[in-house]
Order: sequence, then C-alpha cells, then structure tokens
Amino acid sequence: MMITRARAMGFCFGVKNTVKLADELVSNISGPVYSLGEIVHNKALVEEYSNKGLKVILQDFEVKKGKLLIRAHGVRPEVEESFRNKGFEIVDGTCPIVKQNQIAASKAKWPILLFCKKGHDEAVGIMGYANHPCTPIETEDDVNEVVTGEYTVIVQTTFSDEKLSIFTKKLEEKGCVLHFSGSGICYASRDRRTSLMSLCNNVDMVIVVGDENSANSKTLFLLASSLAKCAYMISGSDEVTKEMARFEKVGITAGASVPESVVKSVEERLLELSIDV
Ligand code: SF4
Repeated sequence: MMITRARAMGFCFGVKNTVKLADELVSNISGPVYSLGEIVHNKALVEEYSNKGLKVILQDFEVKKGKLLIRAHGVRPEVEESFRNKGFEIVDGTCPIVKQNQIAASKAKWPILLFCKKGHDEAVGIMGYANHPCTPIETEDDVNEVVTGEYTVIVQTTFSDEKLSIFTKKLEEKGCVLHFSGSGICYASRDRRTSLMSLCNNVDMVIVVGDENSANSKTLFLLASSLAKCAYMISGSDEVTKEMARFEKVGITAGASVPESVVKSVEERLLELSIDV
C-alpha cells in the first residue's frame, strides 16, 4: 500500500494557538482551569487535556471560579462578560481570523448578511457582536428572502467558495449593494480543500480523519466523496477496517482539529492491516 498525505491538512494556525494556550494553562495549574466547550472537536485530545486538569464546561453553574479558555471559534461577547463578572479569568483563544469577523460585525455600516452555517459556534459568536440586524445566509432559499438593499457582508471563515460566488451573484442580480467586510474565507481552510482536490485525482481511496461533530472535517469528507473513487471518514485508528486496507493507493487528509499523533496511528494501522489482505 502507498499512503499519500494531502499537502495541507490537520491542525490549522488557529487551533495550534488554542492548544498552545491550553498547554500553558495545564502546565501551571494553581486553581481550576476550564475550557468553554471542547477545545477542539477531537475526543482523544479533549480526553488528554481533561486528564491534565482542563475541565470542559458549557456554563458557569456550580463550578468554582478559575481560568476559562475560550476556544478558536470564539463566543458571544455577553457570554464572555458573564463569566468575567462572576470572577473568572478569561484566556482568549479566539482565532485572530475569526476575531476579524467579530470586529467587522461590531463596526458594520449597514444591516449584516452573514454567509455561514446556521447555528455553528463561530457564526453564533459573530452574530453576538453585530451592531445592526444580522441575517444568517446558508441556502439559496435564504438568499431569495433577502430584500433588495445595501448590506455589510461577512463570510464565516470555513464557508464554501462555490456558495460564496453563487450567493454574491444572485444578490447583486437582484440589485443588492454588498460591502464585504471581515476576514472572508480563511486561507488555511481553503488550502485544505484545494490540497484534498488534487489528492483525490491521484489515489484509489481517500480517508478523512475527523470527528463526526467537526464541521470542517465533514466538509472535507463531502468533497472527497464527490471527487474520489471511494472515501471514508473515521475518527481514529480503531475505525480502520480490512476493507480500507485492500486499496493500493490511499490518500489521507485530516480536519483542522486532528492532532498529528492520530493521523500517524491511522497510517500505521492501515499498513498493518494491508499486510494481511
Ligand atoms: S480554520 Fe482558519 S479561521 Fe478557523 S481556526 Fe483555523 S486558522 Fe482560524
């Protein structure tokens, strides 16, 4: 078996930054340390940090005040404020690129259209910063409902390029004036998709390593499913099967929250099983 990795895959800059902050928190524990939600969507990593003392909380009920890590997707400002008011020390791991979108929402000059996945944590956080009415746009139906006018447009960092151009064209065709603001689609996220696209042409099968609840991993899997001859999505080496090991040329990519150690163990398991096939 020959395994080829996508040129860009795994931890992005924003996730690396949050994990670095988590490392600093657990290496210097002098009181309770928490992360608001899982630091990344990866079970193995969340468990590793939980064993080191970083407890995942979703709200401030019944926990002693301590240091609170905000993860890369960011949160609504009032959530941060409520923890601060209760005496928590905030360690802000919001990705600087996501931060640009939050700032853009807080300084918008017109009603905001947020191209995003509705309900995604990053989108929810950005909407919390909006200083004008903010409408999430995820589908063409959402686009059809937009009333002609002048808008600030903010694009979630992991949004699809294809949808971005279709939505923009449709809105402009119906006479909307769009003022793009914020970061736009993040380079890391776009680069992972284009790397995967070229990988799909050169292999018999693609494995996307990522958790079920990771939006960017799911996007990579959808892309691989549409371009590769065969594609699987697994969260770790225990999900590698003999069926996967029968392919000669295998491509691998990983979501932005997947540590290198998990990718390595998947590769090792594939090679191990391929010997018996
Ligand atoms: S995908 Fe981009 S915006 Fe999102 S956390 Fe990573 S670097 Fe930041």
